[in-house]
Amino acid sequence: MPFSSLGFSPALLPALLRVFAEKGYLAPTAIQSAAIPAILDGRDVVGSAQTGSGKTAAFALPMLQRLAELPTQAPRRVSGLVVVPTRELAAQVGESIVSLSKYLPQRVKVAVVFGGVSINPQMMNLRGGADIVVGTPGRLLDLIDHNALNIATVNTLVLDEADRLLDLGFGEELGRIIGLLPVLRQNLFFSATFPPAIESLAESMLRTPLRIEVRAEPQTVPDIVQRAIEVDAPRRTQLLRHLIQSEGWSRVLVFVATKHAAEIVADKLRKADIEAEPFHGELSQGKRNQVLQDFKLEILQVVVATDVAARGLDIAQLPVVVNYDLPRSAVDYTHRIGRTGRAGESGVAVSFLSADTSAHFRLIEKRQHISVPREQIAGFEPVDTENFLGAPASNGGIKGKRPSKKDKLREAAARDQLQHKG
Ligand code: AMP
Repeated sequence: MPFSSLGFSPALLPALLRVFAEKGYLAPTAIQSAAIPAILDGRDVVGSAQTGSGKTAAFALPMLQRLAELPTQAPRRVSGLVVVPTRELAAQVGESIVSLSKYLPQRVKVAVVFGGVSINPQMMNLRGGADIVVGTPGRLLDLIDHNALNIATVNTLVLDEADRLLDLGFGEELGRIIGLLPVLRQNLFFSATFPPAIESLAESMLRTPLRIEVRAEPQTVPDIVQRAIEVDAPRRTQLLRHLIQSEGWSRVLVFVATKHAAEIVADKLRKADIEAEPFHGELSQGKRNQVLQDFKLEILQVVVATDVAARGLDIAQLPVVVNYDLPRSAVDYTHRIGRTGRAGESGVAVSFLSADTSAHFRLIEKRQHISVPREQIAGFEPVDTENFLGAPASNGGIKGKRPSKKDKLREAAARDQLQHKG
């Protein structure tokens, strides 16, 4: 289906086609084809779509059309409200809407608000009103409480990554926000998963919604090669360095479990002359923006991040994601590896498995119905092989064979080497 058949008004279409051409979008993605005509028709929509499916444009484009149909008002009244779980996602969605509106006849004012930074600039920015507000729940409520934001004029509410909003404990804030919105409005609800709490939130909010579930299809499935490399935990940084060099990885997003680990790993990489920075929730917003920008501009080769970065980050053509520490849940695994192979590009997602974590990875594989072959890299074979569990049976289980005499000798030599490194 071409973009021109989605139902955009002829007044808007040329400006949108110009943006699509600039961005290299050839045709609507599956979620866009399914959702845009319904949203333009005024229907509520519940969308379940994978990361990288193009869902931001799916809800943003109809919002822009709706805005174009409204009479201009001074000050601007908020017509669209997008509630998101994290500041990174807020910034990214805001940026995306602004870029999609680039050639529209009228300038669209998008205000992005989130906590963790001073509220004053956000209040100032809202002074002349805004057409679309994108924000995290707590800060939205703060701004409402300060009379800096009025959401009583909202036509369209978007909940993006609704499951994550509830996971992060924003249920109560969401309830308050929804209570301040006009009863007659359009609701667009996007979530990666639909556990009971999400189902009941959707049910309480939506009027006979159109349900859209986008399954993998060739155009939108990111082409991600998944690899699982067995290595002893203390040697992961060395292995990472080795892989960056031997595989010629130009840009890598590395996931670790803690802020501390992010600092340490980035520091070790820097000492090995690899441009690396940590990225976690304790950094100032200014610093985080700087890191993201440097990464996008390829000034940085490696960003070592906690899961804060796992959702929402959209860095075009990120070739490699490394799970230095495994994610806690299978859903987080999907979100992490979704940072690579976006929008038709190919990517590699590498997970490091050590004796302690191999069982956990097997669980992730089971939940995701995948089976990733185990690998070992010459010179980094694990010594501690006892507890390694291979891929699930469907893959034949590569590991788990008894070590040969040669294997044992190699293990002993490696153990010696480790001890000497101390
Ligand atoms: P999202 O799922 O909204 O995070 O979008 C993921 C990526 O898909 C972003 O990099 C978008 O720029 C890109 N994208 C959105 N729509 C299209 C399209 N129709 N064709 C190709 N890429 C797209």
